[in-house]
Amino acid sequence: MGFKEYRGEKITVYFDGDICQHAAECVKGLPEVFNVKAKPWISLDHADVKNVVEVINRCPSGALKYKI
Ligand code: SF4
Repeated sequence: MGFKEYRGEKITVYFDGDICQHAAECVKGLPEVFNVKAKPWISLDHADVKNVVEVINRCPSGALKYKI
């Protein structure tokens, strides 16, 4: 499968569902950005880049990456 790309204005996020361990750090940390009920499930439109980076750094599996 590999990483899928999610583009925001100031940050691009990459996610690989095969690597994700469902620790839910992302959905608990920033529910307005990481919402498994939404499509696409990562929405960066109203996100503070600093907060997104902080939550991605907490992802234990390496399933989330970012580029600023
Ligand atoms: S924090 Fe990382 S491992 Fe946990 S659910 Fe999110 S992407 Fe998956």
